[in-house]
Amino acid sequence: MTHPGMVLAIEDLTVSFDGFKAIDALNLYIDKGELRVVIGPNGAGKTTLLDLICGKTRASAGRIRFNDLELTKLPEHQIVRAGIGRKFQTPSIYENLNVFENLEVSFPRGRGVFGALAFKCTDDVRQRVHQVAEEIGLVDALQTEAGLLSHGQKQWLEIGMLLMQDPELLMLDEPIAGMSVRERELTADLLRRICQNRSMIVIEHDMDFVKAIAHKVTVMHQGKILAEGSMEKVQADPKVIDVYLGH
Ligand code: ADP
Ligand code: MG
Repeated sequence: MTHPGMVLAIEDLTVSFDGFKAIDALNLYIDKGELRVVIGPNGAGKTTLLDLICGKTRASAGRIRFNDLELTKLPEHQIVRAGIGRKFQTPSIYENLNVFENLEVSFPRGRGVFGALAFKCTDDVRQRVHQVAEEIGLVDALQTEAGLLSHGQKQWLEIGMLLMQDPELLMLDEPIAGMSVRERELTADLLRRICQNRSMIVIEHDMDFVKAIAHKVTVMHQGKILAEGSMEKVQADPKVIDVYLGH
């Protein structure tokens, strides 16, 4: 089932919590440069799927292959180092640092004996911070304390912190929750820009937003895949209308 243009291949993935299968023999394949949106009712297992990929939760069975690497036995930090970034639903930025500093501390550094102490703000880092600030639309806010940003700007900053590591696969869990209409549009633009040189998995509920960004949509239900394909195809699928879109 795998082919060379594929970045992620998940097969027979299963996780049980006290006998309840939150993810049930799931197969999912993501291509390089693809932006996949995962939708489905609450409790479908969407967040758990991301937890399994990033190593926060351990699989009961199955495989997750990222390029040539098997992820199911790797610790979280090695999965990050391999090139997978994951944003949780609540932003975890440093409110009392400014935007520049938030991005700067997210720059991946060597793990020398002196760790963070040996770290200097070199031109490379400064350049990368500016590049990312440009991408997330916060270049005019570099000196602003993160706590003072709008809700939407905080979400973009957190995406920027992940971009500092230049992940090959970026996963976002409900990135537009609580955003204004304008912020949602800007976020769609942002995601379209940043997926040009990486793959992304985005969990979202807002169908206009999904339509604006998705290359392909996967619909989950009870830990399984209910439907998969273009937005048009899944929207017209009676099973999907029945368990999700009809409500
Ligand atoms: P979604 O993100 O699609 O709304 P989740 O992945 O959060 O769904 O949850 C899927 C199911 O797994 C839910 O029934 C949830 O209660 C259960 N679940 C998730 N994580 C755990 C856990 N750590 N322990 C027990 N049950 C869990
Ligand atoms: Mg969730």
